[in-house]
Amino acid sequence: TNATLGLYGLGTMGSALALNILDNGYPLHVSNRTDKVVDDFVAEAGPLAEKLTPARSLVAMAQAMEAPRAIILMVPAGRPVDESIAELVPHLEHGDVIVDAGNADFNDTMRRTRELEAQGLAFLGMGVSGGEEGARRGPSIMVGGTEAVWEGLREVIEAIAAKFEGDPCAARLGPDGAGHFVKTVHNGIEYADMQLIAETYGLMRYGRGMAPARIGEVFAGWNKGRLQSYLVEITAEVLAATDRETGAPALDDILDRAGQKGTGRWTVIEALRMGQSASAIEAAVAARSWSAEKPTREAGAVLLGFTRGAVELTDAELEAALLAGRIVAYAQGFRILRAASDEFGWSLDFARVAEIWRAGCIIRSSLLDDISGAFRGDLPEGQLIFAPAFAQMLQQSAPALRKVVAAAALAGHAAPAFSGALAFLDTMSTARGTTDLIQGQRDFFGRHGFERLDGRAGQHGPWWD
Ligand code: NDP
Repeated sequence: TNATLGLYGLGTMGSALALNILDNGYPLHVSNRTDKVVDDFVAEAGPLAEKLTPARSLVAMAQAMEAPRAIILMVPAGRPVDESIAELVPHLEHGDVIVDAGNADFNDTMRRTRELEAQGLAFLGMGVSGGEEGARRGPSIMVGGTEAVWEGLREVIEAIAAKFEGDPCAARLGPDGAGHFVKTVHNGIEYADMQLIAETYGLMRYGRGMAPARIGEVFAGWNKGRLQSYLVEITAEVLAATDRETGAPALDDILDRAGQKGTGRWTVIEALRMGQSASAIEAAVAARSWSAEKPTREAGAVLLGFTRGAVELTDAELEAALLAGRIVAYAQGFRILRAASDEFGWSLDFARVAEIWRAGCIIRSSLLDDISGAFRGDLPEGQLIFAPAFAQMLQQSAPALRKVVAAAALAGHAAPAFSGALAFLDTMSTARGTTDLIQGQRDFFGRHGFERLDGRAGQHGPWWD
């Protein structure tokens, strides 16, 4: 790259990404809202600090950089990004690029791209996945922007990205908001996969009475098979961990209430807006929202008095159900990507998306190789669940998924993601469903009319005669 690189926002992700850039031999300017953070960063960088130019402010950093500049923002999504851009713009010149590496709402990325291009500047919306460790050692990077801007920064971005068998897990996926949109859906899939895993843990712990450490061993075993993935791997470690002093499961110290920063919810909002529905992802977002209502749940435990009973499910059945659920989570994520690609004319390369998720990111799993293969091969109706390899996996695992959903329901264990995944599969394999009745009702009360099966005209029911 011929651009001078700068990075603003040395928090968890920013500092890790900065070290990664330095590690790859690129000189880097850095700055942060709070000065002390910069000093600490320089001290921690050790020998890497040699190629580092710290600055006291974003503006001072821009002024110290030679043009053309590429300034990476790694600050919380939303206002901090707009404020940073506003501060920077008067100090930039034609040919400079602002790169937003946070988890932006892709609508904001589209707007910012328009606004900056109107001022002769360039913008790159760059989704980065992999948490702190990924940012430090190699994340998966999903880029949206013009071909020219991407080509200017491609070398650095590919250098810092994770590699899967030598192939960089970074790609320009389309213009403006495409990268951040794909990152958003990545996180939606992540929500669903995490929720499916948590439901599996719940059934094992509270339905089968297994101790966390034992459940961890089962997960570790699964990680050697079809479920091989980063999330299953870390689940095994979390389950195995114990309190340093008491030796009790580390999980037992953790409040069962999860936060969310937006990407899961945005995935669902965008899906619904485009007339899509992603039941497993929706269920996961809902489960996090419900989890926040701890006092309500505590009251409900007393006032409704429902109990959680035993379930008879084998490890193998849970493993198969988790595989089926995970396939649905990915499939629903790719359906949203397809809808957005059509709506915005992005021509997303779904096989490439699957490929750049194979290393570095949180949802990396052995299934992604099969997914990229499926998108390059025969895909009936454009549906991942119908690709021969996946149809076969689903046929084999569906009975276990049914058993898990039924057992959970009968014994009183909430399993919204498993249930949502199964409902999707059952709906998509029912040629004649029950929406004829919905259409009848709509015509009855609102004269909405309906299409007839025989194609004949006369779209109102006899109730209007
Ligand atoms: P941190 O909270 O660790 O760091 C936030 C950084 O932004 C700090 O440098 C902070 O500066 C700065 N900052 C906060 N508010 C402002 C503001 N109003 N103006 C200027 N600077 C500000 O966050 P993360 O590093 O975790 O996240 C950064 C981005 O990366 C977010 O968009 C996040 O969603 C995304 N992301 C995070 C991942 C993760 O696993 N953590 C994974 C992938 C993406 P100061 O030191 O002054 O507080």
